[in-house]
Amino acid sequence: MAWYGLRADPVAPDEAGRFRMQQGQEIGALARKLYPSGVIVSLANGKTPAERTRVNVADGTEETIFEATALAAPFVAKADILTRLNGGWHVLEVKSNFSDTKNIPDLVDDLSYTVMVFKRTGLPVVRASLLLLSREYRFGSGPDQLFEVVDKTGEVLVRVTEFDAAADSIAKALFNGKPPEPKLGSVCRECAAFGEQCLAMGLAHTVLEIPNLHYKKLQRLSAEGIFDLSQVPDDLKLNEKQQRAKDSALSGKPCVEPGLKNVLNAVAWPCYYLDFETVATFLPLYDGHACHQQVLTQFSVHCRDTFDSEVPHSEYLADAKRDCQRELAEALISALDQQGSIIVYTSFEKTRIEALQRLLPDLNGPLQGIVDRLVDLYAIIVNHVYHPDFRGSFSIKKVLPALVPDADLSYQNLAIHDGDMAITRFARMARGEIAGDAIARTRQELLEYCKLDTYAMVRLHETLFRMAS
Ligand code: SF4
Repeated sequence: MAWYGLRADPVAPDEAGRFRMQQGQEIGALARKLYPSGVIVSLANGKTPAERTRVNVADGTEETIFEATALAAPFVAKADILTRLNGGWHVLEVKSNFSDTKNIPDLVDDLSYTVMVFKRTGLPVVRASLLLLSREYRFGSGPDQLFEVVDKTGEVLVRVTEFDAAADSIAKALFNGKPPEPKLGSVCRECAAFGEQCLAMGLAHTVLEIPNLHYKKLQRLSAEGIFDLSQVPDDLKLNEKQQRAKDSALSGKPCVEPGLKNVLNAVAWPCYYLDFETVATFLPLYDGHACHQQVLTQFSVHCRDTFDSEVPHSEYLADAKRDCQRELAEALISALDQQGSIIVYTSFEKTRIEALQRLLPDLNGPLQGIVDRLVDLYAIIVNHVYHPDFRGSFSIKKVLPALVPDADLSYQNLAIHDGDMAITRFARMARGEIAGDAIARTRQELLEYCKLDTYAMVRLHETLFRMAS
């Protein structure tokens, strides 16, 4: 993947990606405030950042250097913060994660690579730490309470030894004119080269379309050089859902289990279709809130009495300048009335309603009433339906165009066309970056986006009913 990535045209980040970068830069700037005497390495006197770093390190006057750059060709690395310690240097990487999040090993790898390159330039690194966000931080507190320094020196030194042993051969493979021998793994799912240039090139369906295939089975297929779904050996035991996916993909026909009809018949009318939007930013948006706190901001509800009846719509969108979750919860309880199934897609809505129950204990009863009426269309599809165009995924992005291929359900015609963009626009309103007339326009665009989500469920429900019949 790295070999192809090195040669691919650079892709500009989308709006949500740019917003994440902007927030990361803000966190970096706040981290620098912890070291008031620090200096930023920059291009000056015709010198590169690596040359400037060498000067700053050598002259002994700077205690702390930001954005220090190390060049040990062909490797280059930048340390967010480099500060003198016990006659050597302390390397710190600023990250917008909490210390108990599950991607910490990746962050340690990132830090280890930086330390490896600095050590290769001869810098005596005596400590390596991650500067992470504190769970205790609350909106409005100072930067001194925002971070926690997590010493990772022990783990980093072990990784540096491993990286050092592998780095030169990896560099040689990366700069070789031909890509290394490809090897099938679950990571191939995220690789842009998979279908275009690598293992799946020219294949109609691949083994990665088998949903939730155990990694040991994938390892076996990889070892046997089997990438084409049609070549999967019969003795590779597949469960019912995996077999359904394989049969459907190879036959080119959708597959519907007889049980679908019973499940759909259990839906109680009037039927409601519910979708939420939330916002979460690195730094909290509202009083009392923590970093990364997820805040419910919006809902859309469609409702109908039968498949032939009208589909009235109701909605709520918070004022971005304040936490409106109580208002939203009350509007939700009113919009969903007291009887009939509430159709959602995935368990996201259930999780958010449960969070509201914790936040607003006085509304626990009516909110529990909503939870008890939820019907998850995602689970119904996973257990009963497969279409070759799902390509192994049951996300709404795959399922909707496969089962309801109408032009009027296209998100591409909307100004806001995905969840990340919706979060970004709302966050920008909350931070005052969208102001004036643009607020009314953005609110309208957010409402249209969320409305299409529930209308899509209306159409999906109809389609499933027809398929079951
Ligand atoms: S498809 Fe898999 S093997 Fe090929 S480059 Fe991508 S990750 Fe590597």
